[in-house]
Amino acid sequence: MRAPLFLLFLVIGLLPMILQRFVMNRSFQQTQIDGRVIEVQNQCLITSDRLTRAEYLLSPGRDALLNKELDTIADIFNGRIVIVDQNFRIVKDTFKLAEGKINVSEPVMRCFQGENSMLREDEKQYFAVTAPIYDNTADRNIVGVLLTIASTENILSNVDSVEEKARFFTIVAFLMLVIAGALLASLLVRPFDHLQASLDRMAEGSMGENVSENTYRETKKISEAIQKTKTKLQTIDQSREEFVANVSHELKTPITSIRVLADSLMSMEEAPVELYREFMSDISDEIDRESKIVDDLLSMVKMDQSVAELNVSQVDINALVQQILKRLGPIADKRNVELIYESIREVKADVDETKLSLAISNLVENAIKYNVDNGWVRVTLDADHKYFYIRVADSGIGIPEDKQEHVFERFYRVDKARSRETGGTGLGLAITKNVVLMHYGAIRLLSKEGEGSTFTVRIPLTYIY
Ligand code: ADP
Repeated sequence: MRAPLFLLFLVIGLLPMILQRFVMNRSFQQTQIDGRVIEVQNQCLITSDRLTRAEYLLSPGRDALLNKELDTIADIFNGRIVIVDQNFRIVKDTFKLAEGKINVSEPVMRCFQGENSMLREDEKQYFAVTAPIYDNTADRNIVGVLLTIASTENILSNVDSVEEKARFFTIVAFLMLVIAGALLASLLVRPFDHLQASLDRMAEGSMGENVSENTYRETKKISEAIQKTKTKLQTIDQSREEFVANVSHELKTPITSIRVLADSLMSMEEAPVELYREFMSDISDEIDRESKIVDDLLSMVKMDQSVAELNVSQVDINALVQQILKRLGPIADKRNVELIYESIREVKADVDETKLSLAISNLVENAIKYNVDNGWVRVTLDADHKYFYIRVADSGIGIPEDKQEHVFERFYRVDKARSRETGGTGLGLAITKNVVLMHYGAIRLLSKEGEGSTFTVRIPLTYIY
């Protein structure tokens, strides 16, 4: 970014400088020459008027003073004055080269015809102006022509010297522009350099520092985005650590119980068979628990891996829900919980049958588990043109408001002891939410402590790949 900015400044700075020099040079030279032409023309008219009044052409050699004056004027203009009489004969030449010769040049001829002309030869660095000389009669006949040739050489050399000075200033200005451009470019880019340095430090592992570069709106926005990403990364990191700690803890708990049970059996001499049986049954329960945790973990890890693993097909959702309720019926019966199924319409949708079945089972199982004896669980299936909705409502213990946002987290349990009693792993709702999200759906919870909970799942009827 620095180099393009620097170049941009140079171009922006140089362009007007070059244009100005080009235009100024041209016009300066032009005005200088134009000024000199007007000056010579005026002088030429004044002199021709004097020559007329002095009747110079009657005897050109006589008026020595006038001749001297003509020489002086020619010198001043660094030029030459030539006077031509009626017969086109040169009667006066300040260079003394052409006296007596004939001059029928175009400007002279045109002047005799009453037309004041000017001939300009920029290449040859001179110009020529003419002025008529009249006789002193009332008719004012043109009896001669005053031809003044002036050199522009000294003007051009003046222009050259001015140009040389201008060139010097241009070089100085250019150097200043280069320095200013480089400074400005690096100044403008500096906030981005700071950001880059912060990012480099973050990449090296220093996550502690805050990234805040508020010089420009853009850098402020980038800083905020970096800060957000950093917080997210930190949260992910933290939750990963927590997850590993939780997994280890969860896996260890049944093993510890098994060990305690086995140790106490072993420490007893000649324990009765009933006690053995009871302890073995407890050990078997703990093994079941362990295996459930492992199963849940495996299904969760699988779901985390990739969405592409969804095995989508058209599924009769009514049949699916009925099947789940049938399977869970015996568990509900144990606590005399009534399972009610309400199907508002037939629903067929593109879903992964196994995964969705697992997700809905978790919800219904929870509704039974966290219910009261003789309670009820109502499962409602409905659909509109875009989505189908499965609502699982129960008359159970409900979830306190401040805990509701956490229940979808892995290993989160509102009441650890109760959940353990009922064989919960704390992974059920996390798995359900994952499945719903994989189907581009949403899950919502409404609950009041002591009154019951309602989980509503919304999933699109057609799966968009
Ligand atoms: P668990 O395996 O412990 O049931 P879940 O992830 O399925 O884990 O649920 C997380 C926690 O949310 C549960 O421990 C329980 O405290 C609470 N919970 C879930 N469903 C309900 C419900 N229908 N009624 C009351 N509490 C519930």
